[in-house]
Amino acid sequence: MQRDYAESLLHNGIVEAKAGEMATARRYLERAINTSGEHAVLSEAWYWLSKITDDPAEKRSALENCLSFDMRHARARRELAILDGKLDAREIINPDALPAVSTDPAQATADRFMCPQCGAKMVFAPDGVSLICEYCTRTQILPSRGEAKEQDFLIAMATARGHGVPVAMQVFHCQGCGAEFILPPDVISSTCAYCDSPHVVSLESSRELLQPEGIIPQAFDQKQAARLLVSWVEQNGINPQGIVDLPRGVYLPIWTFDIGGAIAYSGDRYEADEGLQGSSQKVFHVDDEYPVHLNDLPVPASRKIASYLSRLLPSFELSATRPYDPRYLANWAAEVYDISMADASLDARSRAYTQLKRKLPGDIASLFNLKTSSANLLIESFKLVLAPIWITEVPFGGQKSLVLINGQNGIVQGNTPSQPRPKPKNGLFGWLDDLLDD
Ligand SMILES: [Zn+2]
Ligand SMILES: [Zn+2]
Repeated sequence: MQRDYAESLLHNGIVEAKAGEMATARRYLERAINTSGEHAVLSEAWYWLSKITDDPAEKRSALENCLSFDMRHARARRELAILDGKLDAREIINPDALPAVSTDPAQATADRFMCPQCGAKMVFAPDGVSLICEYCTRTQILPSRGEAKEQDFLIAMATARGHGVPVAMQVFHCQGCGAEFILPPDVISSTCAYCDSPHVVSLESSRELLQPEGIIPQAFDQKQAARLLVSWVEQNGINPQGIVDLPRGVYLPIWTFDIGGAIAYSGDRYEADEGLQGSSQKVFHVDDEYPVHLNDLPVPASRKIASYLSRLLPSFELSATRPYDPRYLANWAAEVYDISMADASLDARSRAYTQLKRKLPGDIASLFNLKTSSANLLIESFKLVLAPIWITEVPFGGQKSLVLINGQNGIVQGNTPSQPRPKPKNGLFGWLDDLLDD
């Protein structure tokens, strides 16, 4: 009875607020707050109180009260982000009617990396820390401190940035020789074909796109990548049937998500019931939540080799992610995402749900009629990270098979033959020589 009464107070409050009758709305809403013990009613009433006031301090405190009863109240979180200046109200979009994106080639700006001492090309040395001049070997050590910033999920989802992918070709002028060149939408680093200057596209100017926040630096060179490939091929008894190209080093984008909230579950359990007629079994219904704290769940941000990349992702040490700095990309191929953050977040939710269901605590296993729900899983934050990968193909078993090497720690990922052949007697010869030659 009490409950229905509070709900109808809330309902009337909302109707009055929508009709612009602020004073009446306020009376209903305050009455609902004083009457109700239901978190759902309380949070909604506080939310509507925040809507009917023009006083920023009162608005903030109403929103904070709303969130104290429902952390997941998306509209309140969004309003608070606007109040805090983290979200520009003009940028908010309707996700069901995304604005059209121009595919006209866009003028891009880029950083060029040349040696301040001799003017030759600076490249990122794959030692994880330094930029080195190819000619005079002048070295610049990149800062190793700092942490890659997490981005607020809700704010990004409220704007077009959370939903889009790069679609326009990028045009830019080489600052070395003035040549103009064009890059595909998702490629962000390139070397000028005429003067060989390394460039990295500056993403700050682009309001439609999310920028990488983190990067895991390439930690070894092509020769080391070739050695790793060779020993992997040997260990798996593969006899390459044709030429194997040297692995190519590239940075590929991944999204990482921090997920909180809870997995709701319900089920039944038998419990002994000590009654007057001796003990018997009674069915008890259980309805509870299992709290979730998942940090940095990685999801591929590029479609091209997503299935291979997915299998390699768990091998990355994401805690070693550094703040993004374009210098790590000097003279390395790099791509940004072609899977939008919004799409990837759905993938992340379902991966998290599958993973967590397997880890639910033991007492849940004793329940029958078990039902779980991901409805209360909450993506809190995310970031775009560029991960170092080496890629090549190895021909065997009648097809070319993609092989990826984790550029951070050398872990190799690829399909292996179901029936390995015996090792060739001559060991490290033939195709291997080409790979390891200087
Ligand atoms: Zn130099
Ligand atoms: Zn040039």
